[in-house]
Amino acid sequence: MTGQPLVVAIDGTSGVGKSTVARRLALVLDVPYLETGAMYRALGLKVDQMGVDPANRETVEALASDLDLVLRRNPDGTVEVLLDGRRLGEEARQPRISEITSSISTYPGVRRVMVAHQRSFAESAGAVVEGRDIGTKVFPDTPHKFFLQAPLATRVRRRLQQLEESGRSNLSADELMREVSERDERDSTRAESPLTVNSSYRIVDTGSRSIEEVVQVILEEIRQLLPSG
Ligand code: C5P
Repeated sequence: MTGQPLVVAIDGTSGVGKSTVARRLALVLDVPYLETGAMYRALGLKVDQMGVDPANRETVEALASDLDLVLRRNPDGTVEVLLDGRRLGEEARQPRISEITSSISTYPGVRRVMVAHQRSFAESAGAVVEGRDIGTKVFPDTPHKFFLQAPLATRVRRRLQQLEESGRSNLSADELMREVSERDERDSTRAESPLTVNSSYRIVDTGSRSIEEVVQVILEEIRQLLPSG
C-alpha cells in the first residue's frame, strides 16, 4: 500500500455489532483490527483488581499512566491486549467491569493515555479501529468513518447472547437493558470525547441487515475512496 496507511473508524453504541464487523473488515482489507473498548476494559479490570474507587479520578488517572498495556499483533492480523503481560480474558467483559470501565473512561487523563497508544499502533500498518470516539477524536482525518446503529432491544438481545455463550451472564434481559442504556447514556453525554456522530460519517443500520451485508456496504464505500477504487 502506498501513501498514508489505511485507517477505518468504526464507532457506535454497545452491542451494535462493531466488533464482528470490524474484525471481518480487517481480514478483507489485510490490516490489523484494534478493539479500543478492550483497552479501556483492561484499565477497568486493573482498577477492580487494585480495589481502587472508580470515582477517585486522580488515582485512576495515575493508574492509567503506569498501566502495563501492550498491543500485540499476531501473524494472522488479530491484536491481543496484554495487561501486565497477560492476555485480557473474558473476565474483562463482565457487566461489573463494563460499569467500572464506562465511568473511568470519562477521565481526560485516561483517554489521553489510550488515544496515544491507539495512534502509535495504527501509524505504521493502518488498522480497522473500533470504539466510540475513533472518527471524532482519535483519527479525525481519516475519510473512512462509519457509525453503526441498531435499536436498543436488538442490541440487548445480541449482548445477552454473547454473554450467555461465554457463560458469564447472570443478568436478566431487563437488567441488561438497564445496564446497556445507562452505559450508552454515560458514553454519549460525558464531557470528554462523547460518543457522537457528525456529517463526516456514513451511518449504517445493523438492525435491519445481516453482518455480511453491513460488511459489504462498508467495503464498497471504502473502495470508492481508495486511489485504485
Ligand atoms: O466497546 P466496549 O463495550 O467493550 O467498551 C467498553 C467501554 O469502554 C464503553 O462503554 C466506553 O465507556 C469505553 N470506551 C470508550 N472509548 C472507546 C472505546 C470504549 O470510552 N473508544
